[in-house]
Amino acid sequence: MAFVLITILKKNDQNTSADQRIHDLIVQAPVAISFLKGKKLIVESANPPILELWGKQNDIIGKPLALALPDADGLDYVQLLQGVYKSGHIHYRYETKVWLYRNGHHNLFYFDFVYQPVKDIADGVVGVMIVATEVTKQVVARQLLEDTEERLRLAMEATGIAIWDLDVVNNVIITSPRLAEIFGLDPEEKVTSEEFRDLVHQDDRHIILKAFDDAVKTGVYLYEVRITTGEGSIRWIRTSGKVIYDDQHKPLRMLGTTNDITEQKHDEIMKNDFITMASHELKTPLTSLKAYTQLLVTKAQKADDVFLINALEKSEKQINKMTRLIYGFLDLSKIEAGKLQLSVQTFDINALVTEVIADSMPAVQGHDIIFKAGRAIRIVADKEKIAQVIGNLINNALKYSARGTTITIAAKMQGENLKISVKDQGIGLKQKNQQKIFQRFYRVEDESTRGLSGFGIGLYLSAEIMKLHHGEIAVKSEEGKGAEFYILLPVIKS
Ligand code: ADP
Repeated sequence: MAFVLITILKKNDQNTSADQRIHDLIVQAPVAISFLKGKKLIVESANPPILELWGKQNDIIGKPLALALPDADGLDYVQLLQGVYKSGHIHYRYETKVWLYRNGHHNLFYFDFVYQPVKDIADGVVGVMIVATEVTKQVVARQLLEDTEERLRLAMEATGIAIWDLDVVNNVIITSPRLAEIFGLDPEEKVTSEEFRDLVHQDDRHIILKAFDDAVKTGVYLYEVRITTGEGSIRWIRTSGKVIYDDQHKPLRMLGTTNDITEQKHDEIMKNDFITMASHELKTPLTSLKAYTQLLVTKAQKADDVFLINALEKSEKQINKMTRLIYGFLDLSKIEAGKLQLSVQTFDINALVTEVIADSMPAVQGHDIIFKAGRAIRIVADKEKIAQVIGNLINNALKYSARGTTITIAAKMQGENLKISVKDQGIGLKQKNQQKIFQRFYRVEDESTRGLSGFGIGLYLSAEIMKLHHGEIAVKSEEGKGAEFYILLPVIKS
């Protein structure tokens, strides 16, 4: 706008109708404009937006600026414009604060000002054009962003969390300086993702590899490992992030945070160690308790003591529950140490399922269990662990469905895989929980599970056991309409 006006002025400086046109243009311009003429900076034209900006009326037209705006910005303003007039140099003022009375309130606005000397070919500078553009929205948006960034920075500083962004395709990592600090490296130096990984404790590297594989599948990257810092000390870090995929669902980027959890971890290690120790100690007395209880059941059966038989069966049920829990805790600590291993043998899956159902019988309360054992399917796998997975599924089916309903178990070949399914008519699962239930300690806590206790480790352990077998575990379910859990086991035929 300023450019157009200046061009006209140069060509028609003596022309009154041209002056009028300039005046009209200024008055109608959507931005705030004024033209100050001559050395005294007489307000030749000023449109309504600039009058509003100055807080003045039309009556200032024709007055020298010093008189028209005696109180505006002090004399500095006038001096500044006189400087532009004298020097012939354009002057910019960005994001200038201006208080304006609009809609019954005094509010703060921001304007960018241009003070443009207007030149005439013959006489040089003849005046100064003021153009002001409101930039309040941009300034406020930027301030908000800066505030958010500042809050994030403060939060990161306070919590000591580092952020990182990994370009998976080119293996380039961008990190906040805090990450290098956590790793005991110089935050000024550029560190590659390999250099970070090299500092991960030898015994914990498998955890990262597994977390990475899981992340590619699930989109969630999560691990806790030890690192040997650049200064040689051992620290614990926790990394959590998410994966961003391309159209073909190939991972493109991973973004996340890492924090030093050495203190917390310390606490958790003590807790885990305690649970592992206590579980070990409980194993032996529990085994003999179970043996004695079974002995007593036999005796009570011989004596035909119905009350005793009943009471002892209930005790056995509780002992079995406790045994499963303790073995679960022991397995959990083995998984965390990367030490859960398979011990494979050849066995018939139908016989195993029949055995597991028989073992689960004490927990059955008015359920019908249907399993039609077909011809023998001999497989090579860890018999005890597969029994543990099937037992878990049956116990869950019993726990999460009402008495009088049916649990259907099937074992059959599906292509190269053996499929074992446990289907109940119980509470079922919402879609959003169907993946989460395989995570460690995850339990659905709502109206439907009220009063049903558990630790949320059974399905996590089952999933880990299936991974070790290169198989999988999954669920098909609809809330309120039962659930069908199944495992797929790649069969290495004996
Ligand atoms: P726990 O039963 O001890 O909580 P699990 O790991 O075995 O732990 O199961 C995790 C969660 O999955 C349970 O808390 C429950 O919410 C859900 N769940 C498992 N089996 C079933 C089932 N058959 N029907 C409905 N929900 C189930």
